[in-house]
Amino acid sequence: MKKFLPLLIVLILCACQSSPGADLAVSATPTATFVPTLTETPSLTDIPPTETPQTPTVTEPAFQVCVPLEDETMDSLLLILVNPLVIPPFGKDDGHHGVDFAYYRRGERESIQGIAIYAILEGRTVVTLEDTIPYGYAIIIETPLSVLPEQIQAALLDGYLPIPEEVVYQGECPNFSPPVNNGEMSVYHLYAHMEVRPGFAPGDTIACGTELGTVGNTGYSSNPHLHLETRLGPSGANFSSMAFYETTYSEEQRANYCLWRMSGHYQLFDPFILLNAVD
Ligand SMILES: [Zn+2]
Repeated sequence: MKKFLPLLIVLILCACQSSPGADLAVSATPTATFVPTLTETPSLTDIPPTETPQTPTVTEPAFQVCVPLEDETMDSLLLILVNPLVIPPFGKDDGHHGVDFAYYRRGERESIQGIAIYAILEGRTVVTLEDTIPYGYAIIIETPLSVLPEQIQAALLDGYLPIPEEVVYQGECPNFSPPVNNGEMSVYHLYAHMEVRPGFAPGDTIACGTELGTVGNTGYSSNPHLHLETRLGPSGANFSSMAFYETTYSEEQRANYCLWRMSGHYQLFDPFILLNAVD
């Protein structure tokens, strides 16, 4: 028996060593949680039926004209119109290059001084003017003609006269280069005699109804009022300043003044063409 004992031990050891392999085989079996189930596979019935893509309705932004003065309406503006537009011939600086709104007493108010001035159209700031003659503190805003309704565009273009070759200027106008006209036209609106210089820089975007400043009595003005001046001319006007009637004013200020008011490139039209265009 002693002779076979070592062999028996070896046989027993061999039988024991086989069991760990069996344990590994069991634990390696993938469990059901790792197997993707059929319900996770998208089927044709799960896909929503293809709908005809909805074309977004393109609504053109409504054309907006805003009342230029606090507490007024389009209708009430006529009641405080104290000085109408009088368009002079090219080269002349007389007439009246806009419309004036003013009052002494109006309801609770004792003066128009300090009343808010609003932009009548959206646009971009061309320039703000220092307190000079004639406009005082003022701002000019440009609006491309193309944003206006077609009938207004037509009415304005219809009234735009051929630009004269030669203009005899009233007053001493320095030589200036005519504006580049690539066929694009803009409406320009100028608000004059404000209390302080408007806080806008050239290029600033202006919305319809943006408060531009307040009614004042600066420049060539004897009583507080809003002078609203509207012109049609080539797009992209670029005036750095504008002034006249004072020997101290620079050649550039006077040249810009003559170009703006007398040359025929920027032609006056009645602002009520715009103000009457909305209800
Ligand atoms: Zn005026």
